[in-house]
Amino acid sequence: MSYYCPNCKMVIETEKCPSCGTWRTRDPENGDLCLAVTLDYVNATIFADLLKQNGIPFMTQSGGIKGCGLTMSPRMFYVTYDRLEEARAVAEEFSDAPEEDEEEHPSGPDDPEAFDDADLYRLQDMSRDELTKYRKKLKETLRELNEREEKIRDAIDEIDYLLELEE
Ligand SMILES: [Zn+2]
Repeated sequence: MSYYCPNCKMVIETEKCPSCGTWRTRDPENGDLCLAVTLDYVNATIFADLLKQNGIPFMTQSGGIKGCGLTMSPRMFYVTYDRLEEARAVAEEFSDAPEEDEEEHPSGPDDPEAFDDADLYRLQDMSRDELTKYRKKLKETLRELNEREEKIRDAIDEIDYLLELEE
């Protein structure tokens, strides 16, 4: 038995919404907008493309945190209830794609430094293989960016701490 929480736009298994705690849930209807999956920026770009290829209409919403000119915040994907299963199937297939074997040869021909953001604009033209390879590069780049972000955040925390000491 599934319920729908209109507040969270989520299909849930319990009558009480585990996310917002409301009991005001109801049976899902085909036109209900439902949260299908939440993805990081890079995966969101590719997933949006896959949804288009599969003819599944969707809406996205992002947390909207901007840093270094890139929106790195996660994107939430919403589809109507009647397409939810399909969208989740696409998401599952997509997240099963192989991606974690590039660590051994960081300076090989697949050097993440070769990442070119012009490619972001021609995703539609790429084959599955190219998409998979490109996704690897993006993941690697994202990992580096996340590491930098962490260092920057630490530095800011450190500065805040020092500034407070001066007051
Ligand atoms: Zn809720």
